[in-house]
Amino acid sequence: MRAMVLREYNAPLVLENRPVPHPGPGEAVIRVRACGLCGTDLKIASGRIGGTRLPVVMGHEPAGEVVAVSAGVRGVEIGDRVVAHLYLTCGQCEYCRSARETLCQHLAGRLGFQVDGGFAEYLCLPAECLLQLGESVGFEEGALLGDAVGTAFHALHRRARLAPGDTAVIVGVGGVGIHAVQVARAMGARTVAVDVAPDRLEMALRCGADAAVAFGDRFEAEVKGHLGDQGAHVVFDSVGKSEVLEAAVRLVRPGGCLVAVGYHPGEFLELDPTRVVLDELSIIGSRACTREDVRAVIRLVARGLVRPVVTRRFALEAVNEAMTELAANRIPGRAVVVP
Ligand SMILES: [Zn+2]
Ligand SMILES: [Zn+2]
Repeated sequence: MRAMVLREYNAPLVLENRPVPHPGPGEAVIRVRACGLCGTDLKIASGRIGGTRLPVVMGHEPAGEVVAVSAGVRGVEIGDRVVAHLYLTCGQCEYCRSARETLCQHLAGRLGFQVDGGFAEYLCLPAECLLQLGESVGFEEGALLGDAVGTAFHALHRRARLAPGDTAVIVGVGGVGIHAVQVARAMGARTVAVDVAPDRLEMALRCGADAAVAFGDRFEAEVKGHLGDQGAHVVFDSVGKSEVLEAAVRLVRPGGCLVAVGYHPGEFLELDPTRVVLDELSIIGSRACTREDVRAVIRLVARGLVRPVVTRRFALEAVNEAMTELAANRIPGRAVVVP
């Protein structure tokens, strides 16, 4: 089979021919039909994510059909249409047992980070990582549910506990942010999107944002013009830059919360504890999504409440080109790689 392999940091992925994998105990093999390309892939390829292992087949948002299952595996059958959850968890630690498995203390790895991922024709992984797409969700849309859509849902629903009638500000309308706009709307929140790029702001409006505001000198006043002077119940940040995070905190209303999804090494958030205390602000982080979150977003997509935004498609051999386009900010929504 063909696979795109990261052999060294800051170098193009290399096309390799490898044997089609066979499932070991507890495992299944899927034929990859689509795999999303994420901003994190740029960080992995440039060595900015700790703990990656080379060489590795990159790609952590795969969907496909099951072609082999080891004996004794239940709940997954040949022919099933599935999306993969990228965390290979232990299933035993306190976090795994309390459905917070992205915090697993004995993680065997993450697809496309430490273990081979979805930029390949076939992928072997623990069968428990496979979640059923059913018949109504396509592979390209389905691929995004394990990360881009699930991560937005985890942050807004599980972590920030956004409620119907709340107000939300979505800062950064990239691959995760555009789905956060839709999830917030599906949850009944009034939503303002913030970004630097006019085309992304337009896309946010098309995806259900009540207003869209360009990040710049006057953006705080503009956001408050839409939501009221107190600010928002929930501010979702997918940018992770110091300047943006500090502005995001100022948009949180008393009793509200900033939920951080984006991060970059070397970027910090400076907080005024007086305001945090007196306004009882919650500053929380949100890491990826759980399997239960993926099941929830599959239902949202099947019901038409969220539509995964796939704007570009690349052949497997063109992953390097896709990553160049992504780095140049020329991919709104998500691109998928179609082996
Ligand atoms: Zn990702
Ligand atoms: Zn665990």
